[in-house]
Amino acid sequence: MTKDINDQYLQTAKQIIPGGVNSPVRAFGSVGGTPIFMDNASGAYLYDTEGNQYIDYVGSWGPCILGHKSQVITEAICKATQKGTSFGTATVGEIKMAQKVIDIMDNIDMVRLVSSGTEATMTALRLARGVTKRDKLIKFSGCYHGHADSFLVKAGSGALTLGIPNSPGVTAGTASDTLTATFNDITSVSDLINDNPNQIAALIVEPIIGNAGLIPPNEHFLKQLRDITTKNGIILIFDEVMTGFRVAAGGAQSLYHVKPDLTTMGKVIGGGMPIGAIGGNKKIMNQLAPAGPIYQAGTLSGNPLAVSAGLAQLNSLTDDIYATLETRSAQLEGGIKDNLASLNLSYQYQRIGSMGSLFFTDKPVENLDDAMTCDTKLFGKYFHQMLKQGIYLPPSQFEANFISAAHSEEDIKKTIAANKKALQEIHP
Ligand code: PLP
Repeated sequence: MTKDINDQYLQTAKQIIPGGVNSPVRAFGSVGGTPIFMDNASGAYLYDTEGNQYIDYVGSWGPCILGHKSQVITEAICKATQKGTSFGTATVGEIKMAQKVIDIMDNIDMVRLVSSGTEATMTALRLARGVTKRDKLIKFSGCYHGHADSFLVKAGSGALTLGIPNSPGVTAGTASDTLTATFNDITSVSDLINDNPNQIAALIVEPIIGNAGLIPPNEHFLKQLRDITTKNGIILIFDEVMTGFRVAAGGAQSLYHVKPDLTTMGKVIGGGMPIGAIGGNKKIMNQLAPAGPIYQAGTLSGNPLAVSAGLAQLNSLTDDIYATLETRSAQLEGGIKDNLASLNLSYQYQRIGSMGSLFFTDKPVENLDDAMTCDTKLFGKYFHQMLKQGIYLPPSQFEANFISAAHSEEDIKKTIAANKKALQEIHP
């Protein structure tokens, strides 16, 4: 019945929405089968239109760090709606939000709010180009920075999952300004810089890759990026849309003690409402209009509902919450690794904080090439075995799982048991 009804919804949706979904990776393209149409969510669980419950490891792709329908967030949104949904004027909430981000993030003195992570990275790139008066950009293959043209070159996430990392529609000129390096390989970066002297405006990186599955930086990699960009007058952008307030309160930059020039944020700071942000020092940030000449704007930027939801979530992220996230995430990692060992399987489970990935490959994954050695067909089988047991994983080998503070010890135990059964099923 569930499959039938989802098939029906998908067929209807496909008539009026391209591919039936409003963001590609929701379509189950790489794992096969029919996407499940969800109706509501609470805590660690998603519920489909027939009331079936799933333990959710997508968390709306990262924002729902407190779990779904967190009371503090829904109350804050309800309260904000009483005042109106959007004013198109300056509001006091935006000051509070900017101050909150500045208080948490060591390296940020000023913040501009936008409506998505894509807008944040687009703006950071324009800012870097405007400040340096250079055109080129270095990014890493497998990193995803939203869907702006400049970033759709060897991109991760849905673009990678669907096999279109270089999207048609990106002009040759734009693509030629985007240079791609290999994550965890500083020589690939220095080669590009040497080949393009004084032409590179920015280097953008997910400091921990989440969009090719979870790939941590090697010990010195981020420091090496800091050094080489400083030496060459290149703006270093940490794209912490996914990792910000997730892997630690201060993001990946606080874990690895490296300070970028600009930081892009999103997801967690919106509490599940559409938001993004760019932060940096005053000298660079004051180049943005109307303080400076580099243009950026948005009808719904700093939207009062998004700001109230984001503030409520950020205000709730105590040390205890991060400790709970770590405990549950370590429990899941330990359980999955035990299962792999007991079944004599040499797959990789990689994790930082409450983000992790099970890679169906025998070697540690340090970059996109390593991720591409994964058996994605086997992942598809595993995904469906987990789904059958009520566990909702990201529907792609190249996405990270997200754990929320609402996941209980019992939820994780069930997930570990389901993982064992799924691995046994796919390895009869
Ligand atoms: N940057 C990173 C690291 C992301 O993971 C994403 C989205 O997943 C984006 C940017 C784009 O954010 P949005 O989907 O809000 O436009």
